[in-house]
Amino acid sequence: MYKYKNTKIGLVKGDITKMETEAIVNAANNTLLGGGGVDGAIHRAGGPIILEQCKKIGGCPTGEARITTAGNMPSKYVIHTVGPIYKDGTKGEDKLLYNAYYNSLKLAKEYKLRTIAFPSISTGAYNYPKEEASKIALQAAMDFIDRENEINEIYYVLFSNEDYNLYKDLLEKNNLEKA
Ligand code: ADP
Repeated sequence: MYKYKNTKIGLVKGDITKMETEAIVNAANNTLLGGGGVDGAIHRAGGPIILEQCKKIGGCPTGEARITTAGNMPSKYVIHTVGPIYKDGTKGEDKLLYNAYYNSLKLAKEYKLRTIAFPSISTGAYNYPKEEASKIALQAAMDFIDRENEINEIYYVLFSNEDYNLYKDLLEKNNLEKA
C-alpha cells in the first residue's frame, strides 16, 4: 500500500471482478453492450442486470463514464468508462485516457463512493502502450486527489506480472509514501 495525501493507493494482481471496493471500473466500449477482456469478465461475473442497465444508458463517448450496479459481484457499482483506441499517439489518445480515469473518479464522488478499483484501461485490445498508460492513470488520480481530496482508496488491479511490476516501479519512482 502507498499513500498520496490522505488517499491510499494499492496494487493488486488478479481479477477485478473479485474486488470488494465500492466501485470497480470497467474498460468498456462506446456501445456499453459488452466486449472481451475485462468487460466480458465483469458482465459474466455480475450477471445480466448490468447489461440491462447499460442498454438503458444507451452508450458512452470515449473519455466519459457511466454507472450501473455490480449485480452478483462483491462491489456495489460498476463505473463503465471508455478509453481510446491507440493509433499513433497523435490523435489525442493521452487526453482521452486521462479523462477516462478522471471522469470515473468524478462519478464515484457524485455517488459518494470512497473506494474504487481500476483495470489498466486501453492497454489490452485497444493497444495503448502500457508504460505511458500507467503514468496517465497515476497522474489523473493525483490530480483528482489534489483538487477534490474525496476518495479514500484507489486500487490498480493488474492482470499480468508485467503490468503489476510496471505499476510498482512507477509508484516507487513517484516517491509515494508507504502506508
Ligand atoms: P481495452 O479494450 O480498454 O484495451 P481490455 O479488457 O482488452 O481493455 O484490456 C485492459 C486490461 O485489462 C488488460 O491489461 C487485460 O489484461 C486486463 N484484464 C482482462 N481481464 C481482467 C480482469 N478480469 N481483471 C482485471 N484486469 C483484466
